Amino acid sequence: MNLVLLGAPGAGKGTQAEILKEKLAIPTISTGNILREAVKNETKLGLEAKGYMDSGKLVPDALVISIIKERLAKDDCKNGFILDGFPRTIPQAEALEESGVVIDRAVEIAVSDEAILARLSGRRVCIKCGAPYHIVSCPPPADNICPKCGGEIITRKDDLPETIKSRLEVYHSQTEPIKGFYEERGKLSVVPGEGGIENTSRAILEALGV
Ligand code: AMP
Repeated sequence: MNLVLLGAPGAGKGTQAEILKEKLAIPTISTGNILREAVKNETKLGLEAKGYMDSGKLVPDALVISIIKERLAKDDCKNGFILDGFPRTIPQAEALEESGVVIDRAVEIAVSDEAILARLSGRRVCIKCGAPYHIVSCPPPADNICPKCGGEIITRKDDLPETIKSRLEVYHSQTEPIKGFYEERGKLSVVPGEGGIENTSRAILEALGV
């Protein structure tokens, strides 16, 4: 099954992608993770992407389209994949379609802007192992040292309040129209994303008919 997860930043695409990956036995591909890794390793791609990412803007289409094409050509994608964070613009959705990739279903995880602001501004992450924390639902230790690996727990630059607002604006203006793209093709499902992780997973699996 070739699946696209849609939804605002912080809607829970990454969390659900990890759960679905186990259930469906297909890989998750997150352009955000691929780009963050490139930034960390200071590759040419990372250096080009960093400024856009830190300010909450989208990385240019041509860059992410070539990343995704290269990744989807790998062997582990031949039985299907879950896209998390791609496509994020209509030209990206068109490029995917034009490259011959058939998407079976696009699932939007619907979460209000208010809930997104509360989620993202409380989000923390270990700089070393990537373990996620949240000041309300999964508070980091007082010394901000990750109990799993000893790394420092920080706020991602793009989770700072001003950047969250700009990411939401980018989402509404550039990414939300993709819902219409998949709706026209009879492939869109919308599930509620504010009822807890397990209920959201259940709703997604129902929408997929598995
Ligand atoms: P994410 O972890 O999915 O929220 O992605 C983090 C950042 O990476 C975004 O705010 C963008 O700057 C960049 N990014 C990730 N995926 C894409 C994409 N498909 N198109 C453009 N920029 C992207």
